[in-house]
Amino acid sequence: MSCCAGTICMLALFNSLDQITIARLSLGLGLSIFFNASFASLVNQQKSSLEKEAMEDYLTGLLNRRSFNLRLDSEIPGAIKHNKILALLYIDLDNFKQINDNYGHDIGDILLQQASKRMQLSIRPEDMLFSISKAPSVARLAGDEFGLVLSNTNTAHDIELVVNRLLNKLEEPYSINTFKLNVNASIGIAIAGKDGSTADVLMKNADAAMYKAKVDGKKRYQFFNEVIAEKIAEYSTIETALQNAIAEKLFYLNYMPIYHSNSLEIAGVEVLIRCNSGPLCEYGPEKFIPVAERCGLIFDIDFWVIESTFQQIVEMREEFDIDELFFCINISAKELLNKNFVMKLNALLDEYNIQAKQIELEITETSLVGDLDKSVITLEKIKETGITLSLDDFGTGYTAFSQLTRYPVSTLKIDRSFVNDIESGSEKKRSMVDIISSLANLYELSIIAEGVETKHQLDYLQNLDCQYVQGYYLNKPMAWLEFREILITNVPSMRSSRY
Ligand code: C2E
Ligand code: MG
Ligand code: MG
Repeated sequence: MSCCAGTICMLALFNSLDQITIARLSLGLGLSIFFNASFASLVNQQKSSLEKEAMEDYLTGLLNRRSFNLRLDSEIPGAIKHNKILALLYIDLDNFKQINDNYGHDIGDILLQQASKRMQLSIRPEDMLFSISKAPSVARLAGDEFGLVLSNTNTAHDIELVVNRLLNKLEEPYSINTFKLNVNASIGIAIAGKDGSTADVLMKNADAAMYKAKVDGKKRYQFFNEVIAEKIAEYSTIETALQNAIAEKLFYLNYMPIYHSNSLEIAGVEVLIRCNSGPLCEYGPEKFIPVAERCGLIFDIDFWVIESTFQQIVEMREEFDIDELFFCINISAKELLNKNFVMKLNALLDEYNIQAKQIELEITETSLVGDLDKSVITLEKIKETGITLSLDDFGTGYTAFSQLTRYPVSTLKIDRSFVNDIESGSEKKRSMVDIISSLANLYELSIIAEGVETKHQLDYLQNLDCQYVQGYYLNKPMAWLEFREILITNVPSMRSSRY
């Protein structure tokens, strides 16, 4: 710019430009100076707004995860060195997803803004670790998850006082538009030094403590402790073993026959996953499937089970007439929110030329929470393929009986705890099996009673007209070769109709 102005002056001095040209050039120069100055200030503004964006959460104006982590990392060493208590609170709103699902994302966003205000207001400034602009040491870490650092507390009791105040504040009803909404929070707490000396570790441990608070019933707080540390270690052992089992193809299937309760002829089979070496062998699916669900490996596993079952059916068909045998495959409820599930399922049915009516997918009743509308849409799509559906471990979840009409299921699997109660002296406990059976009759659903372990239980279920039974009294889950022996003795009866 100055070089350009200098050139005009020089040319004017040497009289090589006429007056009009000089005027034009000067006007151009003036405009250019003006625009350049405006541009510079715009760039500065944008720079600071970008810096702000990089630091702040766009919705709440709180710190974002990255800047919160950076600040936490810079404060931890000093706190440890000077023996000061620095507590990280990992706050998660309970059932927030339902607010989004039922009232829409706009209302959900306003609720998050109000909750973040309450968090800031319920903490005294002197308890905060750091403070920038309007966002003190509170951050929005993701969706409905927040982080808060306390630095001026001397004992665990002090922390509890603050946390209780926070929980009370967060659970006051939220007035948004015409709605009065109720949301609680679960809080996990990790202390610098004792529970970690970096922001990442502290965050991971406070998150694990928060998860424990959720499992224990939500609306509460939990300090990180040794037991949780062991659980984390176990979780990561299982996660690594799952990755290894998928890569090394260490899974195989076990088969548990399902019988017509009156004739005790074989009607179907439930396939159950097993692992042939490493820690998964010892843990079993009851333990490793929930970990697979949390870390996202379940999608690979479910498809491995479905495809392996289909391959086995193809093999069985060459030897046996199994057209009337049904195959129950457990799938995770996570598949109901998986957009590709039905498409992949259809592709496998085609590839292996499987009759859809021979396949029943089992979904655990307790896992049917969250986005029910989306889940029901997927269940409907599965039903359209001709595959049937059953609610596994029925009776242990929260399905209101009236809700049963919403699920396009054809079978209820009575949870084995209720079958076990048939032996109980208590009339009240015993009656659960009777109630589920009447319910199934009312909604024209069939019943499979699982976990039949004694003759007495079997007699009771036969008298109740429960259609199908499975359990250790009849068979334990078995390897393919053993199941093949059962098929050999049962094939003639296999043509009997299922319903
Ligand atoms: P589930 O689907 O309810 O399967 C029944 C479980 O109860 C099986 O345990 C079976 O061995 C056990 N069981 C059956 N009858 C009796 C009995 O009379 N007494 C006793 N004590 N136990 C009995 P398993 O194979 O350890 O599976 C546990 C759970 O893991 C399953 O419960 C299911 O929720 C899940 N699971 C198993 N295989 C798969 C799979 O391939 N995919 C998915 N997503 N989940 C699976
Ligand atoms: Mg099952
Ligand atoms: Mg079950």
